[in-house]
Amino acid sequence: MLTKLLIALIRNWVNCDMSDSVLISGKLLTANCSAPRNHIIDTITPHYMEWYCSAKECCESFMPKSRKASANYCIGKDGEIWLNVEERNRAWTSGNSYNDNRAITIECSNYMDSAKFGILPDATWKSLVCLCVDICRRYCKKQLIYTGRPNYEILGKYDMLLTKHKWFQDTDCPGPWLDNKFNDLANEVNAILSGEKPSPIPPMVFGGLYKCCVNCLNVRESPTIYSEVVSEYHYGDTVILDDWFKSNDGFIWGRYTGSSSGLKRYIAVGRDTGKVENDDFLIKLY
Ligand SMILES: [Zn+2]
Repeated sequence: MLTKLLIALIRNWVNCDMSDSVLISGKLLTANCSAPRNHIIDTITPHYMEWYCSAKECCESFMPKSRKASANYCIGKDGEIWLNVEERNRAWTSGNSYNDNRAITIECSNYMDSAKFGILPDATWKSLVCLCVDICRRYCKKQLIYTGRPNYEILGKYDMLLTKHKWFQDTDCPGPWLDNKFNDLANEVNAILSGEKPSPIPPMVFGGLYKCCVNCLNVRESPTIYSEVVSEYHYGDTVILDDWFKSNDGFIWGRYTGSSSGLKRYIAVGRDTGKVENDDFLIKLY
């Protein structure tokens, strides 16, 4: 207990609890970054991708060395959040070393058709708000502020600044829509940080490839521990779960559909705590 408290105090003191967000659905880490960053985190820089794509596709686009670009996080059109550069490292996103060494950078998917060009889908916007709240909380910041310029010098100990890519490079990023939403973003995030509004849950896509992390995991006929066991998974086995889940008997149940039989089978993914836990039976790979 004392050790835990000491660690928490030291982390607070140096302001560098650089663990990554638990809101991510997956990660694809690129070598396009500077490790480690050379400044404490006190800034968030949201970008628009100019691409209607998934978080995974955005991460993949940052994998080739020749691209020479990356982001700490990518948020897809469905609101999924993926990690592309760990928070302890500096992503190459805003064309400005000074900003990106202190900023967590976030690439957001946006609509591309001319009528809605640059607009973030609702799910993407919700996840951006959730991620900003999560970042502020983890770095002990009480407010997200937007002043219209990169004036880091005004920041107090408990402030997080919003900056824009276009301030540093010849670009229109964050695009015609997000460019005018920075005050709204700060207001929404601050209403949650102050307790005025409840903490939102980011849109998550449940379905995907999962890996078994326990020695033996029962597969059942229905989503309940009282149902018949029809098979079992072992440590390291993988399974593709449908985009479906149910809470029952204190567990979150996933489902897969047998490729040849077409039968639906059910597996407990982990305890129902409302979030991903370290002791979950299945972890999502992507
Ligand atoms: Zn940008």
